[in-house]
Amino acid sequence: MNDTKSMTAAKVILKPGKERILYQGHPWLFSGAIATADRGIAPGQVVRLFSHAGTGLATAFYNPKSDIALRVIAREADAEINHAFWQRRIEAAVTRRARMLPPDTNACRLINAEGDGMPGLIVDRYDDFLVTSFSTAGMEAWRECVHSALRTLLTPRGIYERSEGRSRAREGFEERCMVAWGAAPPAMLEIIEHGARFLVNLREGQKTGFFLDQRENRRLVGTVCRAAAVLNCFAYSGGFSVHAARTGAERVVSIDSSAAANELCRQNMGLNGFSSSQHPVVAANVFDFLRDQDELFDVIILDPPAFAKSQKEVMAAARGYKEINLQALKRLRPGGFLATFSCSNHVDGALFHKIVIAAAADAGKTAQLLCEMGAGPDHPVILAHSEGRYLKGLLLGIE
Ligand code: SAH
Repeated sequence: MNDTKSMTAAKVILKPGKERILYQGHPWLFSGAIATADRGIAPGQVVRLFSHAGTGLATAFYNPKSDIALRVIAREADAEINHAFWQRRIEAAVTRRARMLPPDTNACRLINAEGDGMPGLIVDRYDDFLVTSFSTAGMEAWRECVHSALRTLLTPRGIYERSEGRSRAREGFEERCMVAWGAAPPAMLEIIEHGARFLVNLREGQKTGFFLDQRENRRLVGTVCRAAAVLNCFAYSGGFSVHAARTGAERVVSIDSSAAANELCRQNMGLNGFSSSQHPVVAANVFDFLRDQDELFDVIILDPPAFAKSQKEVMAAARGYKEINLQALKRLRPGGFLATFSCSNHVDGALFHKIVIAAAADAGKTAQLLCEMGAGPDHPVILAHSEGRYLKGLLLGIE
């Protein structure tokens, strides 16, 4: 691979003062921060960033078509961006995961975009298959290089690419879902998470097949489910349900509106030795189910999809979160536990706390904070990049 991409790097000069955020390690700059950019820069091209006073600041991907015009890839303005550079980045990310992957687990996120210095690149490992996703023009240009480095470092059985979703469209690309290299993944691949077995559909399952970000929370919440009656709302393929049953829950009720998710949930419960007669899987809208329910539970899990997909939707999303939390609180026995999550990027931690406080106030319950939760350590986020911290969770004791 030659170095033409780094040799031809163009120059972007920021407006005065706009470099401050970079010193903290924040990886983004919006188009409004730019004073001048060389002409004819192609979307995703590598550029050298300079302050207004002419100091070299960083090397970045530039995409004039995206709101996030600049995504930093190195803290020097003269970094050599070539195959070896990406290979080193990928190796660093993979080495870190090797140190923190828990035993009895063979699925985790290997590369978490900005958090691993590769803006727009997701790589997930499911046993000996990899799933990749490219969502920025910058990483898209290095697709072959990334796949080749992954093959060398990890010798997977196959790499399946799922480059899809809204952010890819914003960067001006079509979807690409295909076998990128090696063997095609089976329709259902079995993985192990903290000793629990799960079937995952890498081609069509949600996200890249499984909500890997919730792994540590599934285990933690499982620990309070011994001998409990558990209600798992928005259960998908039964991640929280299986862990609850494994720690000895007496009864786990799983709710999801998707028939395909419910079928997979039943299969996953069965795979771990739990019957649907003791642990029912119910097709329902959680909002209706909670409102119409008389049964009381010891543990309720609320892990809804992102209710706010943009800033405009935040108020409506807040009402939705408040409603499900209020209804869940009413269905809990004294001494119960509520595990409540929001994965909306636009609902930050402070707002989420306020919503749950308001729900507890309306329900007339005392909420004890037992633990704050987030995505697991295989989903690193640069500390200054608060936008990257999308998953918020609270484990509450309820009286
Ligand atoms: N907790 C899961 C992930 C949940 S993803 C895990 O650990 O794997 C969110 C799920 O909510 C999806 O499966 C989706 O089908 C479901 N869903 C979305 N809106 C819903 C609604 N109003 N009622 C019930 N389920 C819903």
